[in-house]
Amino acid sequence: MSMNDPQARPIPFLDLKAQQARIAADLRPRLEAVLAHCQFILGPEVAELEARLGEYCGAAHCVTVSSGTDALQIALMAEGIGRGDAVFLPAFTYTATAEVPLLLGATPVFVDVDPRSFQIDPAALAARVAAVRAAGRLRPRAIIGVDLFGQPADWPAIAAIAAREGLFTLDDCAQSFGASLHGRKLGSAADATATSFFPSKPLGAYGDGGALFTESAERAALYRSLRTHGEGTTRYEVLRTGMNGRLDTLQAAVLLSKMTVFDDELAIRERIARLYDSRLGNAVATPVRVADSTAAWAIYAILLRDTQARTRVQDGLRGQGVPTAIYYPRPLHLQPAYAHAHDGAALPVSEDLAGRILALPIHPDLTDQDVARISDAVLALV
Ligand SMILES: *Cc1c(COP(=O)(O)O)cnc(C)c1O
Repeated sequence: MSMNDPQARPIPFLDLKAQQARIAADLRPRLEAVLAHCQFILGPEVAELEARLGEYCGAAHCVTVSSGTDALQIALMAEGIGRGDAVFLPAFTYTATAEVPLLLGATPVFVDVDPRSFQIDPAALAARVAAVRAAGRLRPRAIIGVDLFGQPADWPAIAAIAAREGLFTLDDCAQSFGASLHGRKLGSAADATATSFFPSKPLGAYGDGGALFTESAERAALYRSLRTHGEGTTRYEVLRTGMNGRLDTLQAAVLLSKMTVFDDELAIRERIARLYDSRLGNAVATPVRVADSTAAWAIYAILLRDTQARTRVQDGLRGQGVPTAIYYPRPLHLQPAYAHAHDGAALPVSEDLAGRILALPIHPDLTDQDVARISDAVLALV
């Protein structure tokens, strides 16, 4: 196939222009309204969005913030997590999950993931908590479970370990807002849930943004205070050291517009995932579904035989106008910035996945023909 072939038109990894065209009629008046009232920080759209998101995922409280990373940070700040505290998190995730405990002076304890679901492995988690307790150097305080690639982590198992050990649970739902487990949308599976509205996430803004969800009114009040410099009942009463962590009103307007098509988009992502499953499932390892769940499919990743095979497939696809991505080429315990924090425990699954995982395009403006073309190209290369 040559690049002149109409079949070979480049396929975008994500098509935010096509999506914008679909929501334009709803989006423009919302943006105009913000430009008219000029309440750019904590304007009425922010409160409207918080109500909408909380209702959508069934969480009692929603507090929007400036990014997914800041959501994680505010959640840990509210628990007073810092020096001497151990925060357990998967080694195979985005950098922000480990960055936040380190910023607060706490120690990330990297846990290996399940080779089939790619989610934090509950048995490994329990063993790591026991080992940290036995060593006696750090105080186990919190677990950050990540719903990786859009599928839910095993929250009942994580919650059971946390209850037994007295640990705070934080759901890093940055890739999975809209997904559900056992008939409930993510948002109340942990003590607090953090999500991201980075533009490439399933529910993306036109800039940075994030949100926290919790069932606890006390936590929600703390999050509101922390996102505005630790303010008290009046603006110039500072009760605690906080940060500038607010979502801006224009982003809230964009997100309200995106919410009008979000469920349709999730359904399209699910259809694309199934198409990939059926076309590729006999030739490569396609994502294993978490039982009794629905996924947001931020990322659709396949596993190739080894790194060489992955490079061959990735290069071959690129030559045919099909972009791919590697999430993640290096597990966090092997990152130069984080290696010093790692206690040396073996994390073989995370290391293995990093060497042979490959993400294919998945977004609501990909056509079935695109998926067929990408799948045929993969099949010809493996
Ligand atoms: C994107 C992402 C974050 C960070 O979100 P930002 O809004 O970019 O700060 C955190 N954790 C995971 C797993 C992510 O994918």
